[in-house]
Amino acid sequence: MADLSRLALNTATVTQQWSLQDCIAGCARHRITGIDPWRDKLQKMGVAEAAKSIRDNGLRVSGLCRGGMFTGSDAGERYQALDDNRRAVDEAASIGAECLVLVVGGLPKDSRDISGARDQVRDGIAALLDHSRACNVPLAIEPLHPMYAADRACINTLGQANDLCDELGDGVGVAIDVYHVWWDPELKKEIERCGQRILGFHVCDWLVPTRDLLLDRGMMGDGVVNIPQILSWVEQAGYTGLIEVEIFSAKKWWREDADLVLRTVKERFKAYV
Ligand code: ZN
Repeated sequence: MADLSRLALNTATVTQQWSLQDCIAGCARHRITGIDPWRDKLQKMGVAEAAKSIRDNGLRVSGLCRGGMFTGSDAGERYQALDDNRRAVDEAASIGAECLVLVVGGLPKDSRDISGARDQVRDGIAALLDHSRACNVPLAIEPLHPMYAADRACINTLGQANDLCDELGDGVGVAIDVYHVWWDPELKKEIERCGQRILGFHVCDWLVPTRDLLLDRGMMGDGVVNIPQILSWVEQAGYTGLIEVEIFSAKKWWREDADLVLRTVKERFKAYV
């Protein structure tokens, strides 16, 4: 079981209700130690102001969501993506984020070449590494469930992410989100293989049935994921960092009062993480 002092709020969990200012204040009010902001909210608040407020409230920043989307139909598109990723690295450095989370990108428009898309992802991360290493911002590849291979991320297993890390060297690791990887028969083995490479750990639950491919994640305890088991593997691999709660839930949690959501997050974290 995880200690509450390791809880971090991914701001997506209350994205409909709260601005980043509200999230920072909410974390302080509920004594939540860590936060992972999304870039749109960060930019809305202003990076410098957010950095100050995060510092003033003594919060750790488990990550910044998100960089990535490296794939594109032509060199121009891919260059734009790289440019935006460099800005994301700068933002992550400004707020003291412990990593930049990468949702790597799916198939370019009208493409059927998933292997080519994976090559583009590798090349995109490789091109970003000079800058991210210089800024001391580790890049965390987040493998996404295969149902997102076309539109969000063509890196779909932890094994693939590990292979990429082997190829790319220092400055790149993984973010393990139970929602995306819980089903993988190779999961335990691949977590062992990660070792010190684990940069983030994200939790929520897989609901049965899942009614929306993107926006129907469950609160811990409402689904079928054995979170403590996966966490125990992650800890055996050496991970001692923050544990982020990240729940996209259009029909349930985004409609609730955000303070109630945070209270529920804490209760469920104690019971199911
Ligand atoms: Zn995640």
